[in-house]
Amino acid sequence: MSDKLIYIVDVTNRDGVQTSRLGLAKLQKTLVNIYLDEMGITQSEFGFPTTQHEINYLNANLDLAERGGIKKTVLSGWMRALESDVVLAFKNVPKLKTVNLSISTSDQMIQGKFGGRKTRKDIINQMTAAVKKAYECGAELVGVNSEDASRTDQEYLVEFALAAKAAGAKRLRYCDTLGYDSPDVAYSRLNDLAKRTCLDLEMHFHNDLGMAVANSVRGAQGAIDGGVNAYINTAVNGMGERSGNADLACCVLAVLKSSGFSGKYKIDPDIDMSKIWPLAKYTSYSFGVPIPINYPAVGGNAFAHESGIHADGALKDRRNYELYDYEELGRGEPEVIETGRMITTGEYGGIKGFRDVYEKLSIEFKDEKEARNILELVRYANVHTQLPLMDSELRFIYNYPDLAALIMTTTPQYEK
Ligand SMILES: [Zn+2]
Repeated sequence: MSDKLIYIVDVTNRDGVQTSRLGLAKLQKTLVNIYLDEMGITQSEFGFPTTQHEINYLNANLDLAERGGIKKTVLSGWMRALESDVVLAFKNVPKLKTVNLSISTSDQMIQGKFGGRKTRKDIINQMTAAVKKAYECGAELVGVNSEDASRTDQEYLVEFALAAKAAGAKRLRYCDTLGYDSPDVAYSRLNDLAKRTCLDLEMHFHNDLGMAVANSVRGAQGAIDGGVNAYINTAVNGMGERSGNADLACCVLAVLKSSGFSGKYKIDPDIDMSKIWPLAKYTSYSFGVPIPINYPAVGGNAFAHESGIHADGALKDRRNYELYDYEELGRGEPEVIETGRMITTGEYGGIKGFRDVYEKLSIEFKDEKEARNILELVRYANVHTQLPLMDSELRFIYNYPDLAALIMTTTPQYEK
């Protein structure tokens, strides 16, 4: 077995929130980062450092990591491979250390987006200048994204990757931006890139043909067989542009449990699948997108059996009809829904109800002033999310009140 590993770079907070008609509040993005960290995920692409309304959230999350509130997960920023974007990103978010710089590489996009103003050579020059600028600005790890890599000529992609490497890039992200590849093509192209560039590779596959997970894991095989580490880009519950990105749970389970991977390829051992259930549930709630009943691993029916032969078989030995155990995914605890009196706290709440809610979380305030301060933040949090607040959000606000305040602060600018 190769000593190269499969890592996960989750892009829910970047690609996931780009999804048309859907999004997350900054507090919700923060909680997603915390849940990803609790699951031991390698990296979270946590947002857009050149976007004005992201700045407080991004800085506060880097502070949260400094204070130990996010321990393992590396927070990385996404921007265009443009020197001016890089400079602005580090001006806005000075503690940023890991970045991905993105530029289109297919002839379709070079022509279709830049309208003949740029050549293939110009694209490489612009990218290498941006990589160098990122290191000058304080970056410690720069990855380069080849947008529309799957429709990019392979020889040019190799040239692009080698130029990125020479400029100091540590990874190349192969973006199947339109979900165009099939697993055999993903394998052979990633394998060829790995062998010819010796650069660690990121798989970024979209699901327009329903093959994002298959392409991601097969591409990762190609990278590892070619001698480099593989970083699969995932999103919780497969969120993302159009038909979404490769689903986090499915990619990890495919590596751990499928006949083609199990015992043959290694995934980052820090990943704790027992945390996928709370993460998937929280993300579904925050986006307002239910998890389909037949969804793998976290769907309502993933461990349900009714027909005679199946129910009998599952009761005799779960392995008859279950490939993996629900306990491994953090499932199995009954969920309690209040059917009697319910006291909640929110944007128009008062101190008594607020205290009752926090007592149930076993949180005590040291004095009246602290309680009223937290109450004020909780009111704003509800204004901010416009959803009933979750226990994890209430705990975060209590534990990091100053960061919660910063995360929820966005100041629109208007110039006449
Ligand atoms: Zn994407």
